[in-house]
Amino acid sequence: MKPAETMRTIIFRDDDTSYFTTPKRLEAVYGRLWEAGLPVCLAVIPEAFGDTRVYWTDGNPHDPSIPPAYRGTERCYSILENAELCAFLNDKAAAGLVEICLHGYTHTFYEFITHDRAVIRRKLDEGAALLERAFPAARIKTFVPPYDRISPVALSELVARGFHISTMSLNLAPLPELPRIAGFAAGEIGPGQMLYVCDDYLFTYKRTPPESLRLARAALAGNDLSIVSNHYWMFFHPWREAPNAADMDAWNAFLDEVLAADGPAVMSFSGYADRVSAGE
Ligand SMILES: [Zn+2]
Repeated sequence: MKPAETMRTIIFRDDDTSYFTTPKRLEAVYGRLWEAGLPVCLAVIPEAFGDTRVYWTDGNPHDPSIPPAYRGTERCYSILENAELCAFLNDKAAAGLVEICLHGYTHTFYEFITHDRAVIRRKLDEGAALLERAFPAARIKTFVPPYDRISPVALSELVARGFHISTMSLNLAPLPELPRIAGFAAGEIGPGQMLYVCDDYLFTYKRTPPESLRLARAALAGNDLSIVSNHYWMFFHPWREAPNAADMDAWNAFLDEVLAADGPAVMSFSGYADRVSAGE
């Protein structure tokens, strides 16, 4: 346990765990946290669609979370079809080492910017049910929108259902009843229900590893609550077998600070919400 007077807190969120994810890749990135008994929030795709394209990038490339061999396949890949991953993460959930979060349904581009409430409801119902079948030890309490974009209709549906929400602040303006927060921050939507804003991805292949590390250290030093949103596949980009050495060096240097005796408390979204509810 960290000393009680340490109020700094960090939440690790990792997007895009799916049928395509192996325990080995997650272990390579998060094994040190798990060995220390600390939680990671995994945003899990229930039914990843194999021909998902990224339309904000020139040439409409395939979503980088899909391994090359599967790109362009016109079917969905259920997380349930990856029994090894389900067993691995269910054990982690039972031990309190992962929070399983709902990350859309098929993870197609801008999947949750629709205003069609019936579509949103069906995807939330079926997505949460599928994750609960895949991970019986987990309770699905937090939603992370694919591509961090979400419509006000979808946001209001999540609020009504009591989900914690983690997304970028640019989505929030149409719903003035939500907390007005930006950067890295948490605010109460209602009793026991939290909004977690994360406006930057610190460790990304679009930056050099030293720059990622510099920004992550600054976030940790400058915020009571830091939220580090990763994509585990980034550390292997572009789908190499072993993690990229320079990315891992930067990541491990950051984890050294997190795991130091004077480091921050590491919490999950649900754990942080419970702490707020308890008035701590
Ligand atoms: Zn994603």
